[in-house]
Amino acid sequence: MLEQAALSPPPLIGPRSAETFGRARRVFPDGTTRVTIERDPIPRYMHHGESAFLVDVDGRRLLDLNGNFTTLIHGHAFPPVIKAVTHQLRSGCCFANPTEIEIALAELLCARIPHLDRIRFVNTGTEAVMFAIKAARAFTGRPAIAKIEGAYHGAYDWVEVSQAATPQTWGDPEHPAPTLHYRGMPRAVLDDVVILRFNNAEGARRLITEHAARLAAVLVDPMPSRGGLISPTPDFVSAIQETARRHGILVISDEVLNLRQGYEGASALYGLAPDLFALGKIIGGGLPIGAIGGRSEVMAVFDAASGRPALPQGGTFSANPLSMAAGLAAMEALDRAAFDHLERLGDKLRIGLERIIARHGAPLSVTGAASLFRLHPRRKPPREFRETFLTPREVAVMTELTRFFATEGIVLPNAAAACLSTPMDEDDIALVANVFDRFLNQRASLLDTIKG
Ligand code: PMP
Repeated sequence: MLEQAALSPPPLIGPRSAETFGRARRVFPDGTTRVTIERDPIPRYMHHGESAFLVDVDGRRLLDLNGNFTTLIHGHAFPPVIKAVTHQLRSGCCFANPTEIEIALAELLCARIPHLDRIRFVNTGTEAVMFAIKAARAFTGRPAIAKIEGAYHGAYDWVEVSQAATPQTWGDPEHPAPTLHYRGMPRAVLDDVVILRFNNAEGARRLITEHAARLAAVLVDPMPSRGGLISPTPDFVSAIQETARRHGILVISDEVLNLRQGYEGASALYGLAPDLFALGKIIGGGLPIGAIGGRSEVMAVFDAASGRPALPQGGTFSANPLSMAAGLAAMEALDRAAFDHLERLGDKLRIGLERIIARHGAPLSVTGAASLFRLHPRRKPPREFRETFLTPREVAVMTELTRFFATEGIVLPNAAAACLSTPMDEDDIALVANVFDRFLNQRASLLDTIKG
């Protein structure tokens, strides 16, 4: 059993958050409106954000390594976004007509991202993934998709399959079982989803070929965050690309999160040439957004020039000018120098954390790239989702790590990607490394409870 005394004192969350949560529980089932909100045991209510920092309703200031789930690449209240959105708000926030600003954001993205010839805007990453899959179906006339076990792609039924597979449900490693995600989910969904294991090139080749006649697309996130934030191996990338191409199956790259890896996005970094992209998060500058993009020939499914489009796509708030203005301001500021800065800080942090782990001989490892990192209670970095599955003791260690960081004034996401933002500098990296070093010093006995 874990010694209670070995853990951080729980509250950390002040009385105002506690009181607010009491109110919230009377109106929201489970007290919040997002399952992803972290709580220990209650959530921290935020008062405001300033640059790389958050200030909660009890006045605690914390370095933000969450950035609203990696969205806020410039941190909070980024002045160019404030200026652009304020200006737009005065001119109206949405119309049943297109605006010039949506073209400007589209031009910027199409100019930067290889293979992104045409684009359509929606409001969330979930919608972007959903329409990318529908576009692949409309283009190929086939119903099914292949996706990676444990990868998160939002809340569309087909992509929720095996999102939270467990050792009890995931089945044979060579033929991973598609698993249901919620009670009452139609079992028919499972018939149209083939599950691949990340970085298993041979398995991907075999399974895609086996199901080729039914597959519209292979949906891949180049570095699935909830799947472990693990780098793809070159042979896995080429196995997907080549096998899909051979059978006329489209490759959809979900870069809702990983676009932040570089000026041209993540696919370009890992040698993937997608037919379609799903985008979101950073391209909205902190406002709700999603986008589907890709090769002109495939994106023609949205084209109504010769009558009804093969795939109709609308949306009351799609391409709303506030999101467009915020996104354009954020993306314009995200030049190559900004990505270089983030990459330098990210490398420095990951190397620093690895050195500290080695010095302590701790049963931990680090994964990630560019501005993203994730810590694992594993001596060797995991190579795929199944290796990231945690025992209750390992969960306890990671919970304690997040709690310790919170005590020291840093928000560290527990089971997802942590991220850096452009306002951060070397001092912030040093602070994170120092707090981690202290954690390993002060929680050595807790770490001894896991094998790693
Ligand atoms: N795909 C990926 C890779 C994501 O990380 C997310 C969100 N975390 C989504 C899709 C869904 O995006 P949204 O929450 O905007 O619907």
